[in-house]
Amino acid sequence: MQPQLIAPAVEREDEQSSEPPSRMRADEPPSLSVPESSLKSPAGSQWSDWRWQIRNRIRTLEQLSAYLPGLSEREDLKAVIAKYPMAITPYYASLIRKPDLSDPIFRMSVPNPQELSDPPCLSEDPLEEHIDMPVPGLIHRYKDRALLIATTTCSMYCRHCTRKRIAGTRETAISSRRLRQVVEYLQAHPEITDVIISGGDPLTMADSALESVLSAVRSVKTVQVIRIGTRVPVVLPMRITDELVQMLRKYHPLWINTHFNHPNELTPDSAAACTKLADAGIPLGNQSVLLRGVNDQPQILEELYRGLVRIRVRPYYLYQCDLVRGVEHFRTSVRAGIEIMEYLRGRISGIAIPTFVVDAPHGGGKIPVLPNYVVSMSPTHTVLRNYEGLLIHYPEPGVETKPDEQTELHGMPGVWELAAGKASVIQPARTLRGQRREKIRNRSGLESTGFLFD
Ligand code: SF4
Repeated sequence: MQPQLIAPAVEREDEQSSEPPSRMRADEPPSLSVPESSLKSPAGSQWSDWRWQIRNRIRTLEQLSAYLPGLSEREDLKAVIAKYPMAITPYYASLIRKPDLSDPIFRMSVPNPQELSDPPCLSEDPLEEHIDMPVPGLIHRYKDRALLIATTTCSMYCRHCTRKRIAGTRETAISSRRLRQVVEYLQAHPEITDVIISGGDPLTMADSALESVLSAVRSVKTVQVIRIGTRVPVVLPMRITDELVQMLRKYHPLWINTHFNHPNELTPDSAAACTKLADAGIPLGNQSVLLRGVNDQPQILEELYRGLVRIRVRPYYLYQCDLVRGVEHFRTSVRAGIEIMEYLRGRISGIAIPTFVVDAPHGGGKIPVLPNYVVSMSPTHTVLRNYEGLLIHYPEPGVETKPDEQTELHGMPGVWELAAGKASVIQPARTLRGQRREKIRNRSGLESTGFLFD
């Protein structure tokens, strides 16, 4: 664990402050203002035992209302749980700071009657994964990649899950007969070089069961890269044990994509889990989902992405919410995502900016969606804009922009002049960067900014 990563919280820990339990030491059970009996509060060592966490997941309304007494009257939640199972690890429940929908952890984990109200545009399987399954459990959509559903179990059932139709409906893992069929298919399709092991959450499997899947996939000579998709570092970080990591590192090149959605999920425990994986040479990516009321504010995602880079997790995708039944209340407009991308660019490093994608209905695959940076094009120049609103032209190869043309202007240049090569840039007034450059230019003796050393 690297507590210095979340230093301010760790400092506060010693002050017995009102910080949420998530900010406490990894081996301490939390002390929420809820009946301790509800979580069968264990000795510290048990809290850190991932099997204890799985065994003690909150699965029924009775368990939930024992933990969050304000929900004891919510009989309406029973119908939601019957349709879409609930499971919340004690660890993840301990991250709830306020027991209502304004709390992002509560919103992502506690069932909501709105899950039962679906407009007609939603469907069970909008990505049509079942049609792209040549072998049960193996989705082959893109030519060189396939995704294997290794289990239908997750430690926590996210209320916004794209695979609500299968996640948790039966907690089961792939059989050896099915796994053999998958291997045969991969052998017959050498164009598949990259296999994603997903679910459900494959890291809920016992090490030996997971290793059977990994070694079966690795036995296919044409598979070059294995990826694991998991939310375990976020919702059950104690699952990342030394033994697991030792086992995983046998199957390199192995990548892991995890699923943080909100800065409140960045805790010393989740940082420790990611650190262990990164130290084992496993590159880590993060796939967030844009969720109304959870992370649809640019500043929230800025904080999340900065935090992820600190723990060596590269923000990879930001997904527009899929058109899945049961998630309408989480959906935002596509415009909200574009606004967020507009905010992030120029504000945080490129390594902290994910690609915003719409996973297209009908199995159309991921479509990147960006703010518009191409303003105009001519045969000779492309006019681009940057995050500040600066407009600049990029000459196509073979075009010679004559400096004297730029002096023939009468009045201020416009976009047409940039596209025609008659001007090269239109600067917005008084940007921070402009003021900084001005100061540098005005420094005595420094006439050019094009050198580093005297
Ligand atoms: S961990 Fe993944 S598969 Fe499981 S419920 Fe959450 S989003 Fe769905």
